[in-house]
Amino acid sequence: ETGLTFTRIRPMDGKPGGQIARGGIADIDRAVSSARKAFASGIWRKKEPLEKKKIMLRWADLIRGHAEELALLETIDTGKPVMASLTVDVRLAADCIQYYAEMCDKLYDEIAPTGPNDRALVRKVPLGVIGAITPWNYPMIIETWKLGPALAAGNSVVLKPAEQSSLTAVRLAELATEAGLPDGVFNVVTGYGEEVGKALACHMDVDMIAFTGSTEVGKLIMGYAASTNLKRVALELGGKSPLIVFGDADLDAAASAVAWGCFYNSGETCHASTRLLAERGVVDALVAKIKEVTAREITLAHPLEPSAQIGALIEDAHLGKVLDMVEAGLREGAKRAFGGERVMGETGGYYVSPGVFFAPSNNASLARQEIFGPILTVIPFDGEEEAVRFANDTLYGLAGAVFTTDMSRAHRVSEDIQAGTVWINCYDLSNFATPFGGFKQSGFGRDRSVHAIDKYCDYKTIWQRFR
Ligand code: NAD
Repeated sequence: ETGLTFTRIRPMDGKPGGQIARGGIADIDRAVSSARKAFASGIWRKKEPLEKKKIMLRWADLIRGHAEELALLETIDTGKPVMASLTVDVRLAADCIQYYAEMCDKLYDEIAPTGPNDRALVRKVPLGVIGAITPWNYPMIIETWKLGPALAAGNSVVLKPAEQSSLTAVRLAELATEAGLPDGVFNVVTGYGEEVGKALACHMDVDMIAFTGSTEVGKLIMGYAASTNLKRVALELGGKSPLIVFGDADLDAAASAVAWGCFYNSGETCHASTRLLAERGVVDALVAKIKEVTAREITLAHPLEPSAQIGALIEDAHLGKVLDMVEAGLREGAKRAFGGERVMGETGGYYVSPGVFFAPSNNASLARQEIFGPILTVIPFDGEEEAVRFANDTLYGLAGAVFTTDMSRAHRVSEDIQAGTVWINCYDLSNFATPFGGFKQSGFGRDRSVHAIDKYCDYKTIWQRFR
C-alpha cells in the first residue's frame, strides 16, 4: 500500500539481491480480508475433494517444473548451495504439497456411539483464516509444511515469510494461482516481523497462527494471541539437540551423522545435532573422525559452485552473532578442536568454516545457547545416567539421537530423551509420514504427517434425533 521497499543483501557475496515490498498493517488487513472472503464464500472449502486434490497436485507439478528457477531464488536469498536448494528444498516442497493433495479425498469424519434414535456426527471442520509466519533457514520446506495441511483441510492462508527469504514465497503463490487455487485462498505479505508479522499475529480476524522461528519470538506470538482474539497458536521453535555416542558405537557412522547433522545448511537447522555427548573414552577418536569426514565430504564453497555442500550464513548480523558466541565460549574456557572461523571474506559473503569445540561443562554457553551456525560443542560423559541427564538439561526438546550397539540401551535412552524426534544410530532421517516438532521450549504442535491436519481443524458435533 505504501510503495516502500527494502533491499535484500545476498549472503553469497554481500551484494544487493533485489528490492522487496515492505508490507504494512494495511496490507495485512487487505490479505486477511481477502482470505476471509474466500473462506466465507466456500470457493475452496466446499469444493469437491477430488477437485481440490487435482489443483494441489498441479501445483506440486508446477513447483517441479520450475525447480531450477526456485532453487536459484532460494540460493540468492539464503546463501545455501544451489544444488541443495534443487535436490532437497524444491523437491521436498513439491513432495509436501503432493502428500497433502493426496489427503484431500481421504479424510473421513466420525459417527459417535449413541442410542438408536440419535445420530451424532463428529465433523472435522477447517478453522478459517490461518496466519503462517516462517523463518529463513528452509523457506519453501517450512512454508509448504504449513500450506499443505492448512489448505487440504479447507482453510485460507496468509503467509508472512521471513524478510530474508521472500522470493520463493511469492513465486510459490504465483504457481498456486497458475495451478487453479482460487483467488484469496493463499496470500503472501512480505515485510518485517515486527511490522507485518506482528500485525498478522495480532489481527482480530485471524483464527490461528502457525509459527516457526525462534523461541524468543514464539513467546511474543503467544502474547499477541492472548491479548487479542485468543487465536490458536502452534509453535515450532529452537533447539540444542543432543547426540549421545556410547563407547561401543560404530564410531565411523556416528562421526558421519554428527558432522552432517550439525554442519548441513551451515548449521542453520533447528534440529541440528549441535551437542555431542561422547563417552569419555572415545572423545578423541570420535573428534578425529569428525574432522576427517568434514574435510573429505562437507565442502564449503560459493553456493553457485555445484560442488558446494555448504555455503554462506544468512546475513552479516548473523555472522557477527555466531562469531561472538564462539569468542564468548573461548573466553569461558572452551577449547577449539578445529574451524569455527570466518573464511572466504574476500568474496564479500558470510562464510564460517565448520568448527568443533570442547566445552568446559554442559553449563557452558556453547553447550546451552542455540548458535545457529556450523558449530559443534563436545561434552564428555561417564555412564548412561549422566548421558541422559546432560541430554535433557536444556530448555529445548526438538530432537536427539543415541549411538550404541546395545539395542536395549538404545531403546531405554531413546525413551528417556525429552524430544519430539529421537534417532537411533542415524540422524535426520524422516519422511512426510512422521510428525515433526518439539517438547519444552522447542514449542508445541506438529508439522508433517496426517496429524498436522488436526491443528488446522476443529471438531464440530452435529446431533440429530429421529422421531
Ligand atoms: P525469528 O523468530 O527471528 O523469525 C521467524 C519469523 O518471525 C520471521 O518471519 C520474522 O519476520 C517473524 N518475526 C520476527 N519478529 C516478529 C514479531 N515481533 N512478531 C511477529 N513475527 C515476527 O527466527 P529466524 O531467525 O527467522 O529463524 C531461526 C529460528 O527458527 C531458530 O531459532 C530456529 O531454531 C527456528 N526454527 C525452528 C524450526 C522448527 O521446526 N522447530 C524450523 C526452522 C527454524
